[in-house]
Amino acid sequence: KSVVAVVGRPNVGKSTIFNRLVGERISIVEDTPGVTRDRIYAEAEWLTAEFNLIDTGGIDMSDEPLLVQMRQQAEVAIAESDVIIFLLNGREGITAADEEVAKILYKSNKPVVIGVNKIDNPEMREHIYEYYALGFGEPYPISGAHGLGLGDLLDTVVGYFPEMSDEAPDEDTIYFSLIGRPNVGKSSLVNSLLNEERVIVSEQEGTTRDAIDTHLHKDDQEFVIIDTAGMRKRGKVYEATEKYSVLRALKAIERSDVVLVLLDAETGIREQDKKIAGYAHEAGRGIIIVVNKWDTVETNEKTMKEFEDKVRKQFQYLDYAPIVFLSAKTKKRMHTLTPAIKTASENHSKRVPTNVLNDVIMDALAMNPTPTLKGKRLKVLYATQVAVKPPSFVVFVNDPDLMHFSYRRFLENRIRDAFGFTGTPIKIFARKR
Ligand code: GDP
Repeated sequence: KSVVAVVGRPNVGKSTIFNRLVGERISIVEDTPGVTRDRIYAEAEWLTAEFNLIDTGGIDMSDEPLLVQMRQQAEVAIAESDVIIFLLNGREGITAADEEVAKILYKSNKPVVIGVNKIDNPEMREHIYEYYALGFGEPYPISGAHGLGLGDLLDTVVGYFPEMSDEAPDEDTIYFSLIGRPNVGKSSLVNSLLNEERVIVSEQEGTTRDAIDTHLHKDDQEFVIIDTAGMRKRGKVYEATEKYSVLRALKAIERSDVVLVLLDAETGIREQDKKIAGYAHEAGRGIIIVVNKWDTVETNEKTMKEFEDKVRKQFQYLDYAPIVFLSAKTKKRMHTLTPAIKTASENHSKRVPTNVLNDVIMDALAMNPTPTLKGKRLKVLYATQVAVKPPSFVVFVNDPDLMHFSYRRFLENRIRDAFGFTGTPIKIFARKR
């Protein structure tokens, strides 16, 4: 999905525009226990285009002088978005702060669309021409308050979206990405993987700032590493953009078969790790928990088990994810990584035969009686796999409301025991028959 940022001085109407575009569809969901999210972006749509809208005012800088705030906003927008909407106040003309922002945006070579807000009636359009002076082409008169002119503005914005790669992902290639908080060793792990193997290609145009795709051939398998860690520290703005880098991670996750969630054995598990892992879990991708920097830990026969217990306790919803301990730096245990990725990917796209699935379900029903609600008992008729990536099952029942969370969980575990879905979430839907 493309990313659009709205920048502009305080009170120019950014949040009105933001709310108009997003409507009720704020995409922040918190239905996984232990997962929290920052509200810094939202999903929006115009015609058939869906995009992520980022709120560059999401970082509280109210103590800073206006120009500092504006510069920071512009830099975040440049770093994180595909198209920038530069919003101005049509009743005040171009101010010094606007000119400052224009200068920064101009140098970035990102597409910028000028919205001149608070043009609530046609007479006010007369002054629109002065906004051509900013050098970003046609300024669009809009009224956020009355919802006027937004259509033309958005047509232009959408027109700038980069073409999605029409190169269909190769079915035999495993796409994986690495996520984790800064300094867990994402870049080091990518380098470590690449140093020991032949790199075939290393390119991607257009969206290079999001990720670098690198092909890797290892253990008779083609992989593509979707590397978002290439975006390195860029001075002052780094801390702010780090917050927005969530978007980059989400885009990489979307394109992945398997996501490596990196933890740092040296510093241990942090709150931020849980948040990051939550994104991968919600996206329904294959997941491997990688405990990096294992060289820093004095190991005895118990250390690995102890660390594993900690991880299991903190990431209960990732109980299906295997844990790999390694050191990107010394390459200790590096050989265990690609086999784990392969297994997770195979399981992520695994299809099971319907007859065997139903045998498993019937055995499960015999083992553990179905729950009842108000005297009515859940009846399970049959089950079928409806999708892969992740494997998804529909279980036909007399009444879906009777399918408790705990019984669904029980069926999931039986299915996992029978077919081995290590490394991938699976989904179970109850439907009325
Ligand atoms: P990123 O921000 O997640 O990409 O992390 P980097 O790859 O830049 O690594 C951050 C720091 O951790 C660097 O100083 C690395 O040298 C160090 N580092 C990475 N992997 C390991 C490891 O396996 N063992 C040790 N001891 N240090 C590591």
